[in-house]
Amino acid sequence: MISCLRRGPALVAFAAFLAFPPAAGAQSPPPAASPPTPPALVWKTGAEARAIERRIDALLARMTLAEKVGQLNLTGRGDGFDPNWIVTGRTGAVMNFTEPAEVRRLHDLVARSRLRIPLIIGLDAINGFATYFPQPIGQAATFNPRLIELASYWSAREARAAGVNWTFAPMVDMTRDARWGRVMEGAGEDVHLASVVAAARVAGYHRGGLATTAKHFIGYGEAEGGRDYDSVWIPVSRLWDYHMPAFRAAFDAGAFSVMTSLSAMNGIASTADRTLLTDVLKRRLRFRGFVVSDFDSVREIIAHGMARDPAEAARKAFLAGVDMDMMSALYDRYLAAEVTAGRIPRTALDEAVRRVLRVKFHMGLFEETPSDPAHAGRDMATPDARADALTVARESIVLLRNDRGLLPLQPSVRSIAVIGGLATHQQDWQYSDNAGLPRVRPARLTDELARLLGPDVAITAAPGLATHCNLAAGDTAGAVRTAEAADLVVVMLGEDCEQIGEGTSRAHLDLPAVQQALLDALIATGKPVVVILHTSRPFVLTRFIERVPAVLQAFHLGTESRTALAEVIAGRVNPSGKLPMTFPRATGQVPISYDRLPTGRPRTSNARYETGYLDEQLDPLFPFGYGLSYSRFTLDRLALDSRDVPLTGTIAGTMRLAHASGPAGSEVVQVYVRQRVGSRSRPVLQLKFFEKVALEPGAERQVRFSIPVRNLGFHYDQGRLRVEPGTYDIMAGTDSRPHLIATVEVRAAR
Ligand code: BGC
Repeated sequence: MISCLRRGPALVAFAAFLAFPPAAGAQSPPPAASPPTPPALVWKTGAEARAIERRIDALLARMTLAEKVGQLNLTGRGDGFDPNWIVTGRTGAVMNFTEPAEVRRLHDLVARSRLRIPLIIGLDAINGFATYFPQPIGQAATFNPRLIELASYWSAREARAAGVNWTFAPMVDMTRDARWGRVMEGAGEDVHLASVVAAARVAGYHRGGLATTAKHFIGYGEAEGGRDYDSVWIPVSRLWDYHMPAFRAAFDAGAFSVMTSLSAMNGIASTADRTLLTDVLKRRLRFRGFVVSDFDSVREIIAHGMARDPAEAARKAFLAGVDMDMMSALYDRYLAAEVTAGRIPRTALDEAVRRVLRVKFHMGLFEETPSDPAHAGRDMATPDARADALTVARESIVLLRNDRGLLPLQPSVRSIAVIGGLATHQQDWQYSDNAGLPRVRPARLTDELARLLGPDVAITAAPGLATHCNLAAGDTAGAVRTAEAADLVVVMLGEDCEQIGEGTSRAHLDLPAVQQALLDALIATGKPVVVILHTSRPFVLTRFIERVPAVLQAFHLGTESRTALAEVIAGRVNPSGKLPMTFPRATGQVPISYDRLPTGRPRTSNARYETGYLDEQLDPLFPFGYGLSYSRFTLDRLALDSRDVPLTGTIAGTMRLAHASGPAGSEVVQVYVRQRVGSRSRPVLQLKFFEKVALEPGAERQVRFSIPVRNLGFHYDQGRLRVEPGTYDIMAGTDSRPHLIATVEVRAAR
């Protein structure tokens, strides 16, 4: 990620940009009276699509070599940005412009260019713009695609109102290594969940008016040791089985662009990987949009040891299939000369430009009237957006532990000590900087608890740590005194500030020492302690989990985080989130995921020559799909429509979910499949269906599922799909330890 703040804005250039005088006679498009509701973005089809190709032909015929190269050059706010590049057609795309008046100026500059080709304006609007939603991993924890679509819709809608029209999202990298800081940008470890989330996010962004980027092609989440940017090694069969489905789901949903990965896969820098980008993505998968490099990753081909100099890096990236260069400026510098020298064919250049123009035409940018920046604020953080942000935050919270039903709070609790900077401060982590726009500050947890619990419950607070960044010890004694004087302690710990996202790999997944020390001191008071983990990845909770009665996991929930958390604690909201990633017992267990292959020596008796560890259990602390509720549900009566299904058919069935006790609530029904015997070893479990079901007290529902048999296939080392006849176990439950099982025979066609 790159917020303009992180790379440091080049203030001089930026000031020049603002001061850039409109040329005499320059025509600005007239401002619209009010911000138009953006039309949903869709790829046009049939005659419309053909007409677009003809318009591209006509435009290409008018473009100079320099103008063509310009369309492939993505530049950004700060870093010496020069407004003249737009006027002279030297840049066809920009990023990190979020201030509506600035964006409007960009359009004015386009209007002064020879061909007036509209700009594509990009931003990492990954979980919000003015209203923040849970981090993508937290969105995945809702197991509710409708809400995930909404989160992306609002992120897009707000960014679009500021003039942004393209986002570097969704990240669809698979994540099963919590050491990697970017797990928060993905949907976790499971292929089916990640695919459902990818489709929902693409649909939401497009409905809100932002073109999407499926990233990072491909395998970035497998970085060795969880170290960001490090090498990845993925066999072809695994690539297609595990890493490709979420990308394919994003493509099927209409993603407009693809971003390369910063890493090298199987020894080839992904930005220079022709097999991957051209043979697989563009030819085999028939991807119609354009490929953009990651930030500076064209230049980084040199550091990967695959190019001698910048010209060679530009040539290699381009010939591999990277259509647009993000921020390295090497296409700008070398592409024209490479073409003139005959090292890059003119037809290849035209093809890359065609892809960029195609996206611009399909997005409708050529027909668009820029909106009046004065109106942008109206669309920011509206009551509707905030209400939806609250709904998503509520459903994202995962109740990990609730010993003897400590939560929701009982009326006997008359005083609560709220501890931790994350609970008492008002700052919250935000991904990108929406410069110049109203910013909503999240409420304090203390205030929200006081509001919901009323005057009869005394709320006292102490940060206990130096800041909300939680990395420096604070007044532990004061926190302990506050805790001792209360009936119950709520402590909010975790990650914030610079501990989240790109470049934040961890070697230790336990709570940082100062946080663990504070927690130990609070536990020592003997008061019941509710831990809220506000992290951006699974942490190792083994050191305290048995010593506290209640734990809530919140993957940075955004603007409405404290309200949602207070509601869950107070019992206004019944938690229903489920873990999209396995929570390990020890850092040494990662990478870890539930869908592993069996081994020849499975763990059965803790004996030495069985798969496992000398010094730790094999099982995780909390499995994938896990999450408690204040209600008790029962799931039974798994029945298949047929126990005999053809290879071309669908496995379908039903089960009964019943509300057994507690308040109204929601449970996520999960169906897993195992192929008992195959021509390759097959995973012990694979999620193939889930549905979140809401039930009133005492109610029950028959849940119906269907799984096309082709979804049970796997790939060979050449990337060929194979679906095999044989016996499949169909298992259902409410996490990845399903308790219901039925068996189906899949028959080859006669
Ligand atoms: C990240 C991308 C991001 C880009 C632009 C890079 O460092 O890897 O995911 O979209 O910056 O901010």
